[in-house]
Amino acid sequence: TAVMREDRIDKLVDRVETTSVVQDWEEEKEMRMVMKELVDHIVPEALAWASLNGLVVGDKSIKGSGTNVGLGMVHAPLSLFPTSFPQNAFMQAVQLATDFNILIDRVSQDTQFLQEALASTQKVDSFTARLLDIHSQMLEEGLKQEIQLGLHRSDYMLDMATGSLLQVEINTISSSFAGLGSLISKLHRYLIERYGDAFGLKVENLPENNAMDAFAEALALAWKEFGDTSAVVLMVVHKEEGNMYDQYWLALRLWELYPQKVIRRTLAEVAAEAKLRDRQLFIGEQAVSVVYYRSGYAPADYPSEAEWMARLLLERSSAVKCPSISYHLAGAKKIQQELAKPGVLERFMPDREVARKVRKSFAGLWSLEGEGSAQVIEEAISNPQAFVLKPQREGGGNNIYGADVSTTLRELQKDEEQQGLLAAYILMQRMFPTISSSYLLRNGIWSLEDTVSELGIFGTYLRNGHNVVLNKEAGHLLRTKVSNSDEGGVAAGFAVLDSPYLT
Ligand code: ADP
Ligand code: MG
Ligand code: MG
Repeated sequence: TAVMREDRIDKLVDRVETTSVVQDWEEEKEMRMVMKELVDHIVPEALAWASLNGLVVGDKSIKGSGTNVGLGMVHAPLSLFPTSFPQNAFMQAVQLATDFNILIDRVSQDTQFLQEALASTQKVDSFTARLLDIHSQMLEEGLKQEIQLGLHRSDYMLDMATGSLLQVEINTISSSFAGLGSLISKLHRYLIERYGDAFGLKVENLPENNAMDAFAEALALAWKEFGDTSAVVLMVVHKEEGNMYDQYWLALRLWELYPQKVIRRTLAEVAAEAKLRDRQLFIGEQAVSVVYYRSGYAPADYPSEAEWMARLLLERSSAVKCPSISYHLAGAKKIQQELAKPGVLERFMPDREVARKVRKSFAGLWSLEGEGSAQVIEEAISNPQAFVLKPQREGGGNNIYGADVSTTLRELQKDEEQQGLLAAYILMQRMFPTISSSYLLRNGIWSLEDTVSELGIFGTYLRNGHNVVLNKEAGHLLRTKVSNSDEGGVAAGFAVLDSPYLT
């Protein structure tokens, strides 16, 4: 029957290819049936590829899948085919990667700017306050991180109304999917080689994506700069992690390419096992060269004082931290908003051409306190659809949209006492990307949906003192979600992994 099935696929592909123009409703209906049958044939092939090549996540429906490695895995939520994305907008995003690497590095070194920009947030957001405390303590103790490693992902949407590529945010901590992002690109290449004809898709339109190796390269170079060959990379992880295979891929690649060892510990385990000898970090007797955080970005990552002690200990160590506390803070949404103020970005990017290019990617961003804020708050209350209200949080699922923007802003305004709470948020222009039609695949079941996409461009950066060792654009990731969903994260359950088809 395998032969018969291949035969049938060929017939279906033929049928689609020879029907260039759909004549009438009857034919349209028939074509839809043909497409459905074809997709039903392709989906198992895609699922087999994903499973055999490690494009997998923990299966939430199976108990222990976030802790038991190798048990309870399911293919990552994905788009069966890549989604169209204009080549010029893609190139624009790619070309911004090294500029944003430099921007983050410069902002991170302006301690006064960081402290002042986050001062009002600090008063009302205890999480940001704790991060700033660590930052302050490092300054007081005169501890400077000589080697800075950045593994960033800058996210963009293509705003339909203006046709412009606008930045959603930049992630400086735990930027995920360099691993699975590389794999979805490979899967799409394979599926297009095999079935592309029927869908009018060509492999030439798929950009190279080496995100996984680029992240591994940056980690390896940081280890080399650190200079202790017996030391290992410490990946700081969650106790439970549905996205652990993305992390294991990086560790595996590091071993295959260099070879470099990775150990995994939670912040609680670090608290119990870590010690400093003359600032040199050890887990038990094992020396550590690079601390790579895939945890530590959300309040829930610090359930007790022990985790905060662990973060502080790691920060005080001489190991390379990715990110250091100052890189972590430089990626805050409040900093993004402050940089968007007239003249602020330009202070960090004296080259006018570069500053102009970077600023072009900024969406409208507003502070909810200080000069001019009353006016923009009024505007957001009366036209909430045009805005997104964002707290200083990472990891998805935290933003406020639509009518909730009005209600929340009114609530915050009502009580004089509470007014300070406005500082916990920033306001952002809502972007509306072009709507595509995509075959989304979750838990083995596909559906054809109206979708919007968000492009992430990875960037790797390594500086040792004054010497910039590495500053690269490091691959990409497209995330696609149904068009009527507000939020976007894959791990948070809103979006699927995708790759761009350049048009
Ligand atoms: P997080 O750090 O939690 O990922 P983001 O700023 O990326 O925070 O917001 C989460 C998601 O919300 C994004 O992936 C995107 O889908 C959506 N989103 C954020 N900002 C905007 C915006 N200005 N316009 C439209 N959607 C947005
Ligand atoms: Mg983020
Ligand atoms: Mg995000």
